[in-house]
Amino acid sequence: MIPFVNITAQREAYRHELELAEKNVFESGCYIGGPEVEALEKELTEFCKMQTKDMEQLSNLQVIPCASGTDALTLALLAIGIKPGDQVIVPDFTFIAPAECTAALGAVPVFTDINPHTLQIDPEDVLQKITPKTKGIIAVNLFGQCAPFPALRKIADDRGLWIIEDSAQAFGAIQNGRAACTFGDIAITSFYPAKPLGCYGDGGAAFTTDSELANKIRQLANHGSRERYYHEVIGCNSRLDAIQAAVLRVKLRHFQSELKSREKNARIYDNFFAGINRIQPQTIAAGNTSTYAQYTLIAENRDSLIGLLKKADIPYAIHYPRTLSSQPCFNSDARCPMASDIATKVISLPICPWTDVQKIVETIDPYFSERTR
Ligand SMILES: *Cc1c(COP(=O)(O)O)cnc(C)c1O
Repeated sequence: MIPFVNITAQREAYRHELELAEKNVFESGCYIGGPEVEALEKELTEFCKMQTKDMEQLSNLQVIPCASGTDALTLALLAIGIKPGDQVIVPDFTFIAPAECTAALGAVPVFTDINPHTLQIDPEDVLQKITPKTKGIIAVNLFGQCAPFPALRKIADDRGLWIIEDSAQAFGAIQNGRAACTFGDIAITSFYPAKPLGCYGDGGAAFTTDSELANKIRQLANHGSRERYYHEVIGCNSRLDAIQAAVLRVKLRHFQSELKSREKNARIYDNFFAGINRIQPQTIAAGNTSTYAQYTLIAENRDSLIGLLKKADIPYAIHYPRTLSSQPCFNSDARCPMASDIATKVISLPICPWTDVQKIVETIDPYFSERTR
């Protein structure tokens, strides 16, 4: 069967470069932080600048690698000054981390509805959910496309709220000539192996153009310390391993071309599903590119599509089968009707650069009856 994400084929493609980079780290005696991690910081910064038309805006962009995307969110919330009882706007339809990190710090995630086509947080509903206790918005760039930042930024600026940009799935995306990971007061990404830019374990990073926030995040990630054995604040241990940085540096050299392959794969699916009734791909809004962390369909009759994929031996995944507000851990009574409906309709298909999407559409084509076209 075709793998849903083909990480071993990727390793095969870059084997020589990876093995060399790995060997260098293992023999260097430097395993946490150090020159590989510092070089990665620079290269991630350069990548964001290269993708941005007005590079001047990013002259102070800083990248702080850490142990995971989830840790990066927690560090961002702490650096921005979250306090118990604060309310944070989070989309109801996404991976749990933004709401989980908020709740774990004693703050309250306020679940907000989504646009049923782009699947991104709905600025109209953000306005409805703001109260005097609201301190900020965690905007998620879901499935690889940026959230609607022009509208969110206006709302945040008018009301003195911060924005944390969860770009765990979207490092490499562009919105209106500007790179993802540069829209939030702080942005984060994840290097979890199955993400578009993944390492060989857990890893993540925070991004900000605000030096004070950058220094706070660095300090919090290093036991609250700027100077060795002098601890000004309570922090934690959240660092990136040199081996992960070395792997990421190799993959980053190929990342542009991988993004192009993902894009090409998406166009093949788009063309195919344009001819099928009652199945719509996630809309990529004007001015946006997507990293296609997921290629996600909105299927009016998901069960019949699942039956068909099973018969054709094509893997699929459901991102996500439940809204966050319906998760038992949150015990929420939020109302997000679009998110609830979408959770019953979404289904994701394999899209990574080592997927033969042309073959997938040819395989499933005969299973669609005339009635569905
Ligand atoms: C993967 C993911 C995270 C968490 O990243 P980890 O590196 O796995 O901790 C956070 N938010 C979103 C939207 C994600 O997809």
